[in-house]
Amino acid sequence: MNPIGAHMSIAGGLSRAFQRLEAVGGECLQLFVKPNVQWAAGDVSLEEVERFQKERARTRVNPVVAHASYLLNLASPEADLRRRSILTLALEIVRCARLGLPYLILHPGSHGSSGLGVGIRRIAAGLDQALKRAAVPEVELLLETTAGAGTQVGHRPEQLRDILGHSRDSSRLGICLDTSHVFAAGFDLSREAEGEQFWQDLERQVGLERLKVIHANDSRTPLGSHSDRHMHIGQGYLGKAAFARLLTDPRLAGRPFILETPKGTAGDQSWDAVNIRTLKALRR
Ligand SMILES: [Zn+2]
Ligand SMILES: [Zn+2]
Repeated sequence: MNPIGAHMSIAGGLSRAFQRLEAVGGECLQLFVKPNVQWAAGDVSLEEVERFQKERARTRVNPVVAHASYLLNLASPEADLRRRSILTLALEIVRCARLGLPYLILHPGSHGSSGLGVGIRRIAAGLDQALKRAAVPEVELLLETTAGAGTQVGHRPEQLRDILGHSRDSSRLGICLDTSHVFAAGFDLSREAEGEQFWQDLERQVGLERLKVIHANDSRTPLGSHSDRHMHIGQGYLGKAAFARLLTDPRLAGRPFILETPKGTAGDQSWDAVNIRTLKALRR
């Protein structure tokens, strides 16, 4: 069975995300471990860690995973931005370790005008450096599949394979698959046969044991649009049947399904509650 949950805000403190998730019936959680659009990341206080662990134990949410800052770009041709990205990633890894989070999900990066091969090598080296600098043994970094907008790296399985291959030690690297990104990248998960081809390709290129987390988002934009627009489950181009297939696929058993669909309310209910209920119904 796949735990089903959502990305939740940490406004007011990291531990507040648990109440928000609880209110919408979530079983697993994704959060930022620091304000997402700023570089600075101070220490997590002992009190904050304690509050976090208490809330986690009380709500029995599992797993809890982190999403890295959107500012990071390990593939950047700008040396300064790239250095800052590695440093911030290392800080975020340390914060995850303090909080006891197993996975930190990040977007591989955009190579600018450098070319794909250079971008891939920069990402691999950046991951190695961040893990080394963080010097904590626990946390794994998960490369998120991208929609392939602009010069984004990581929208095809072989690109993920090459990042893993260029890393000096890929034992702490894995994959996070975003359903809407994969669809926007041109892999038709809305159809059974095409979807199956994609899964077999992913298995061949990186191995499904590397896949640790699924971002469950329907797509507001059509197949191959390379545009990253999330939609409520069943209201986009992917459709409910695609999610029903994923939630009953034994190869994906146990992976957390985490919503990053638009927030807000549908009548008197939150959209998160509606989407979580929809996914729960589909996994039976
Ligand atoms: Zn992401
Ligand atoms: Zn997205």
